Amino acid sequence: MELLVGWVILAVLIGWWASQWGRGAGRWFLLAVIFSPLVAGIALLVVGVSNPKRPCPVCGTAVPVGVTICASCGYDYVIAAKGGEQTLRT
Ligand SMILES: [Zn+2]
Repeated sequence: MELLVGWVILAVLIGWWASQWGRGAGRWFLLAVIFSPLVAGIALLVVGVSNPKRPCPVCGTAVPVGVTICASCGYDYVIAAKGGEQTLRT
């Protein structure tokens, strides 16, 4: 029983970690539950390092690192860093 609880807690952590990297939390949580949190963690690390993404602060879309404008809403990281006005597509 304790193993099952620990398994689910680790899977939740994987899901949270995935969301921090702009990945679908639910998808990674399921992956961790079905396979194992260890396998999902390693897979997330490999995917995250080879193709890093960050969540858009406006719409939550995963934006690849190096891309400065969100493809979904038009949020501009460069303008945001300078504190300028954003013209967003909503
Ligand atoms: Zn966006």
